Amino acid sequence: MHLKSVFDLSKALREKKVSSRELVVHFLKRIEERNPELNAFITVTQEQALKEADRADVLIARGEAGPLTGVPLAHKDLFCTLGVRTSCGSSMLDNFIAPYDATVVERCRDQGLVMVGKTNMDEFAMGSSNENSYYGPVRNPWSLDRVPGGSSGGSAAAVAARLVPLATCTDTGGSIRQPASLTGITGIKPTYGRVSRYGMIAFASSLDQGGAMGLSAADAALLLGAMAGFDERDSTSLARDQEQFTDNLEADIDGLRIGLPRQHFGEGLDPRVGACVEAAIEDYQRMGARIVEVDLENTDLSIPAYYVVAPAEASSNLARYDGVRFGHRTENPQGLEDFYKRSRSEGFGAEVKRRIMIGTYVLSAGYYDAYYLKAQQLRRIIKEDFQRAFEQADVLMGPTSPSVAFRLGEKLDDPVTMYLCDIYTNAVNLAGLPAMSIPAGFVESMPVGLHIIGNYFDEARLFNVAHRYQQVTDWHTRIPLGFE
Ligand code: GLN
Repeated sequence: MHLKSVFDLSKALREKKVSSRELVVHFLKRIEERNPELNAFITVTQEQALKEADRADVLIARGEAGPLTGVPLAHKDLFCTLGVRTSCGSSMLDNFIAPYDATVVERCRDQGLVMVGKTNMDEFAMGSSNENSYYGPVRNPWSLDRVPGGSSGGSAAAVAARLVPLATCTDTGGSIRQPASLTGITGIKPTYGRVSRYGMIAFASSLDQGGAMGLSAADAALLLGAMAGFDERDSTSLARDQEQFTDNLEADIDGLRIGLPRQHFGEGLDPRVGACVEAAIEDYQRMGARIVEVDLENTDLSIPAYYVVAPAEASSNLARYDGVRFGHRTENPQGLEDFYKRSRSEGFGAEVKRRIMIGTYVLSAGYYDAYYLKAQQLRRIIKEDFQRAFEQADVLMGPTSPSVAFRLGEKLDDPVTMYLCDIYTNAVNLAGLPAMSIPAGFVESMPVGLHIIGNYFDEARLFNVAHRYQQVTDWHTRIPLGFE
């Protein structure tokens, strides 16, 4: 059952070949058996899941089911869930139980999806390896001594290991696409503003965006359709009509103009990863796509710009964790200042503290113009590079990540090398564009991801382009050894 696509699961549910309860029990059992190796889940919500499954079965029996009714999913542990702990991967929120559901959680439930648990993640979504979690690192199902990528590494590992067919995730600089790439699954970060951030714990508000992970573009399209849409509770939510991202999947891609950003194939890229990506592009050419070379001239400025903007916003967003209203509170403080200081130093991990310090510094008087303002200017020229590229091309393609999954501990002592994992992804967040990663081969038995970047609101096209590739290739159906 865990090898079926969501389309097939949905069909089996509606034809009553399987009940939602049976399906949920099956996945819960897999989680119980296999999660100890992977550490992909922080919380498993067994009881609640069974209740929701029974409710789904009632809807199915009444003929009131939608395409996702009764299908299990996991939420990244930064989407607030009423009555269920939302830790954000941090000791700071280890005891935090939100008094409300995030819009994403609410919408998924309205569509009948059954939450089976909350997935592990880098603390406050800061990281590219999932080693920054207070709950310990997540392991990559393709090789347990390697990282799954981050920060949505728990969601990615859970889907790749077939512990759950769908998972939500978030991407501030690459945290959906990079782990999707490193674990051989499909992940999409939509246009900024597509998915409500209400109840999604903030890291860098102008970059954060929720998205979907699944085994195929078709499955991810179904989930994103459930999550997306205008929400008056998020002031950056886009007022656009609800879209059916699955409508366009089969469209012909003959004549599609694929832009290859020269800067995404240069120094720093593992040539074996590059070869997989080039082979995928040849597959597209055989399907009638045309290739144009494009320039994203300022690619090398995106990491510096991102590592000013993101920490700046983080330092401000994380100021709320002071131990007063919620979160970790120190014991026996010697006065108010000591109370704040100790609550925060005990509650946050090293990477989070590093970001808060950088962010506070770049926002401080005297440095604001030199760093923050400069970074905002870079952000504009990075966006303009993309706008020019989209005059020549319908989508852009390249590698998602410069290498396949690396070993646990390999980059831990060197934050800058870790930051470079997002070299191809974080410009997309600075520009607010939609992009996805789909499996496109293997190097050293580890998955390689193809990065597909779209123009604003072009998610339906991204799904179409990805789906057509998945119809002629089988990378996305490969299963990590031992997780069949
Ligand atoms: N790896 C990047 C960072 O550490 C991106 C994380 C993300 O997208 N949440 O900030």
